[in-house]
Amino acid sequence: MLGNAESQEHAIPAYMDRLLVPIKIRHDALRPLVNSAYKVECPFCPDGVLLVRRDEETCEILETDCCIGCGQPVIYLDIKRLRAKEYLSSLLKKTAENRASLAIGKTKGIILTVTNEPSIEPYSMSDPV
Ligand SMILES: [Zn+2]
Repeated sequence: MLGNAESQEHAIPAYMDRLLVPIKIRHDALRPLVNSAYKVECPFCPDGVLLVRRDEETCEILETDCCIGCGQPVIYLDIKRLRAKEYLSSLLKKTAENRASLAIGKTKGIILTVTNEPSIEPYSMSDPV
């Protein structure tokens, strides 16, 4: 029986040897997948992908990841850069959203700018003097 277990161990593909040992790697050194900001190709197996995991509660990008193909765990050495990149893109997105809502406001005739000047009554513009 022991002999059998041993031969089964040898049947495991070579890349499985690395399974339990996380490998430190830079995310920006990996080849990105088309149409994704964070998904990258796994450098350890032919068709694997590293998706980039997030904390379930905070949605923060996690330092540790795992290939969906071969299961190889990795630790991103450039996690701070990754999080900063996401923070910047979220700021840009918010700016774009604000501009969009401002544009919508303008087309609807809504004044969104806040000033310290006294507000002009709506009828004063059209009423004859
Ligand atoms: Zn892989």
